Amino acid sequence: MPNNHSIQFGFNNTYARLPERFYARLNPSPVALPRLIKLNLELARSLELDPVELANAEGVEILSGNRVAAGSEPLAQAYAGHQFGNFVPQLGDGRANLLGEVIGRDGVRYDLQLKGSGPTPFSRRGDGRAALGPVLREYIVSEAMAAYGIPSTRALAAVASGEPVFRETAMPGAVLVRIAASHIRVGTFEYFAARRDVEAIRMLADFAIARHYPDAGEAQQPYRAFLDRAITGQARLIAQWMLVGFVHGVMNTDNMSISGETIDYGPCAFMEEYDPATVFSSIDGQGRYAYGNQPRIALWNLTRLAEALLPILEQETGSQQTAMATATNALELFAPQYEAALLAGMRRKLGLFAEREGDLALVQDLLQRMAANHADFTLTFHRLCNAAAGIERDAEVRALFADPVAYDGWAARWRRRLDDETALPEERSKAMRQSNPAFIPRNHLVEAALNAAVTREDFQPFEEIIEVLSRPFEDRPGFERYGAPAKNEEKVLHTFCGT
Ligand code: AMP
Ligand code: MG
Repeated sequence: MPNNHSIQFGFNNTYARLPERFYARLNPSPVALPRLIKLNLELARSLELDPVELANAEGVEILSGNRVAAGSEPLAQAYAGHQFGNFVPQLGDGRANLLGEVIGRDGVRYDLQLKGSGPTPFSRRGDGRAALGPVLREYIVSEAMAAYGIPSTRALAAVASGEPVFRETAMPGAVLVRIAASHIRVGTFEYFAARRDVEAIRMLADFAIARHYPDAGEAQQPYRAFLDRAITGQARLIAQWMLVGFVHGVMNTDNMSISGETIDYGPCAFMEEYDPATVFSSIDGQGRYAYGNQPRIALWNLTRLAEALLPILEQETGSQQTAMATATNALELFAPQYEAALLAGMRRKLGLFAEREGDLALVQDLLQRMAANHADFTLTFHRLCNAAAGIERDAEVRALFADPVAYDGWAARWRRRLDDETALPEERSKAMRQSNPAFIPRNHLVEAALNAAVTREDFQPFEEIIEVLSRPFEDRPGFERYGAPAKNEEKVLHTFCGT
């Protein structure tokens, strides 16, 4: 390959300009035999990267970490975090490598990161690698989230490493190429707070403000404004998770991005039957990160962020006492913002264009009936889109309830509420389809796709689920199987981090 044809990523790095104590500089460790499994063509183009170049031999060498591209300044980021409530002062990228930053077609700066790129000074006892299954899971679920319009890191590519990784057994290894608005976590702030490195907290906050919340920099109290923005971002994000039945599974503070994107897909999964106590992660025995706990945990994590920011809030407000009051006031705004975002989203799901006093009670009534009757969350709302167009389609929704009469009682109430508005049934039904996906990454189908890839090198089911989930709001003839809940014998109730 002639050198004058090497790929131009157009790296424009800023994190690498921060002081050395923010990261460890090192190259990714090469893998034995890199082979491209999947390249996200559309995402590549949106980053002004040529998919043909990325897919050629040199491109795959770069995406696997075997070659360092021109302009790349590879590094592993330092961070701390509360894991299941316990503070760990040093975590950091133990198996990830930030290659650099690129500016997308949208003018936004994105991190380009490899996950599974080999050991780093932050690896502790880990091998620095990723297994194929979890890499494909993150690919599938993060792309589904993006297709719903939910802020998320994205998958640019998955590359097989040609090497085994050793977990409970030997598994094929892989590298995920990930794009993010940034990889700054609540835990990144905690890292410096734990070291009482106030200068670094300030530099990190200034960096995050410039990158994610430039308007906060214009505010009277930029750090207070930054905390407010981060809280708003999380309140909106978690509401969006709840509206599609997403369970993150490991909402540790090191897995909460300051940009308001969903990050670090581990044992995540989507709820089928509506039940707020739904937990999938095999390591979450207490249900700390259960579906219904996610808003509470987000606030808990944001409280850790506020604590980490206290030293700079103190400098900004003049005293420790006012800094504390400022942080407390900011945190008190989480619940109302979350509840407003959730209710607004639920109104869209139910086809309510106007706002009425009893709407929250109407939503709660439906959810209670769904829980008591094991109704599939996604299908109930999806079929309500049809029921909104005509009462004769009620039968399809009723059939999802163990006791169909439980639906009837609620439906009568819903129709009275709809009569209060002038929207035409077809118009309402169409609008509802934009909020009620036909397809979610159903756990048994995700597992089947991973299993085919891992055990048989058959990537066809993976390709197909990616394709279905790329247009998740459209009914697609021939793909009905992807819309159906798992049968009892197909249910996958536990997911694993696979780290
Ligand atoms: P996670 O639970 O994936 O968010 O990871 C928590 C921490 O463990 C992070 O610091 C990771 O970098 C680190 N980690 C996870 N898996 C590995 C691995 N295989 N090798 C080294 N570090 C890892
Ligand atoms: Mg993590």
